[in-house]
Amino acid sequence: MATGKINVSVENIFPLIKKFLYSDHEIFLRELISNATDATLKLKHLSSLGEAKLEYGNPMIEVKIDKEGKKLHIIDQGIGMSEEEVKKYINDIAFSGAEEFLDKYKDADKDSGIIGHFGLGFYSSFMVADKVEIITKSYTDEPAVHWSCDGSPKFNLKKSNKKERGTEIILSIADDSTEFLEENRVTELLQKYNKFMPIPIKFGTKTETLPKPEDAKEDDPAPTIEVDNIINNPNPAWTKKPADLKQEDYKNFYRELYPMQFEEPLFHIHLNVDYPFNLTGILYFPKLTNDLSIQKDRIQLYQNQVFVTDNVEGIVPEFLTMLRGVIDSPDIPLNVSRSYLQADGAVKKISSYITRKVADKLTSLFKHNREDFEKKWNDIKIVIEYGMLSEEKFFEKADKFALYPTVDGTYFTFEELKEKIKALQTDKDDKLVVLYASDKESQHSYIEAAKAKGFEVLLLDSPIVPHLMQKLETSNEKLSFARVDADHLDNLIKKEDTQISKLSDEEKEKLKANIEEVTTDKGYTVQLEAMDSEASPFIITEPEFMRRMKEMQQTGGGGGMFGMGNMPEMYNLIVNINHPLVSEILGTKTAKKRDRLINQSLDLARLSKGLLKGEELTKFISRSYEMIK
Ligand code: ADP
Ligand code: MG
Repeated sequence: MATGKINVSVENIFPLIKKFLYSDHEIFLRELISNATDATLKLKHLSSLGEAKLEYGNPMIEVKIDKEGKKLHIIDQGIGMSEEEVKKYINDIAFSGAEEFLDKYKDADKDSGIIGHFGLGFYSSFMVADKVEIITKSYTDEPAVHWSCDGSPKFNLKKSNKKERGTEIILSIADDSTEFLEENRVTELLQKYNKFMPIPIKFGTKTETLPKPEDAKEDDPAPTIEVDNIINNPNPAWTKKPADLKQEDYKNFYRELYPMQFEEPLFHIHLNVDYPFNLTGILYFPKLTNDLSIQKDRIQLYQNQVFVTDNVEGIVPEFLTMLRGVIDSPDIPLNVSRSYLQADGAVKKISSYITRKVADKLTSLFKHNREDFEKKWNDIKIVIEYGMLSEEKFFEKADKFALYPTVDGTYFTFEELKEKIKALQTDKDDKLVVLYASDKESQHSYIEAAKAKGFEVLLLDSPIVPHLMQKLETSNEKLSFARVDADHLDNLIKKEDTQISKLSDEEKEKLKANIEEVTTDKGYTVQLEAMDSEASPFIITEPEFMRRMKEMQQTGGGGGMFGMGNMPEMYNLIVNINHPLVSEILGTKTAKKRDRLINQSLDLARLSKGLLKGEELTKFISRSYEMIK
């Protein structure tokens, strides 16, 4: 038997450990199970080298709660430690590691995310325990030893009669940490941190029902047996070779990762690289909605199958944090702050590797089955558009597979779109004008009007697409986007049969004056157009520039430019001089009746554009009832 003092200069290191790690006590279990796993894997390695006459067998790690004794046991069948090794690895090295850590991070920001990603290891058990014991027997012939320490720097070391190889850690749980004696809490921790660790972890037993024997009577209960309750899957899909996995395996693994997620992923990307850094993993594309914020923090980061965090910011490019799945890398430095992480060379390489893999996967999906890719487009476009905006490298690749759907469900690539538009929609300056709608419902009449003119209308409805349009316009000088209800539509040159006006110049002037009299002070600029007689008599459009400015103001973008809260309302009123109603306005003799016709037509146009609201809408409706009464 021996007593001694742990080799450490800080007398009261335990209170310090406890206080410093205040927020993250639960990681002690991960640390102890990691050690048990390491010890077992070392044994496996030795036996594979033919070292000693080792019986590797089927080792597992067991976690046991002793509620009465207020103890938590972590037992492994690994390599164990001799007395010398306990002295060396526990008393000296582990402790100086802890001391060094505390020294380094004494002043560190508690919320910087470093806590829990360090290497305090074994000594983190003092965050939750008053007393810690190690009973361990080395795989060699050395006798077993029993180490204990009650939280002061003094330890006690004696012989033990433990027969089996391996290590048992016994924590006498402190009064303020009794949560770790609750089965539910421990299950939760094992599920969070150890779900995919490489050695089976047993926690209690469970009852399994066996098939009834053939000669059983109908109401005989089915026989049951008690079996080990294994918490983890030691061989998760990402550690296997892609060639050994079927589509179904990937789907099953997704369900394993997200048991509460009922929707299936759209496709997956298996990551596997070992030079210049080590990384494995599987990323999944889930169905995405247009809400960017709610879908983050679903990718889990592991280090050699030990869960580290689900905040992968800085490691995965921002636009891919909307994906799901697992990344496992021993090369990601975990004991440093986020800002350091972003500057780290290895991490940068990892980030661009992932971006490239995602782009390659999308390219191949597009090439091999375009039809299927088109079907998925709506559910994945948000990631791709976001990526095109934020990562230039990704933009270059995505430009070939990013799709631009029409309101009728035809999908163009950007090149195809340009070809199509060249033949169809140019303005007076020979610029290509891409017409689009952002909402099929509220812009319905405009879409119909544009289609009636033979134009192609895209449906671009994701929240970031205006920014992407801006980017495409900047890099393609001869091209601009215009929403269907924008003024651009009037400037488009229609290639075929241009409508001929039925009115004389004199009549036109009179008509314009009549309408302006009623509408100018309401902020409309009147424009006469000779259109198909079937098209609406009055159509309101808003200059593309004005609308975009307003939109950006709403999202906080261009507000500062004018330094004021509200942009002025500015609309064009397009009057179709070939429409019979317009002829009627022109032919009406009394000013009162004419003004009424103009007002009613204007209100209908406003209604169609969604501009008629509140009191005006109420008045319009009762006026309309009056008219048909
Ligand atoms: P680390 O795991 O980073 O080396 P720890 O403080 O967790 O640091 O552990 C210190 C050392 O104690 C380990 O490197 C190992 O040599 C020894 N050790 C801890 N737990 C066990 C165990 N269950 N079986 C065998 N050796 C162990
Ligand atoms: Mg450790």
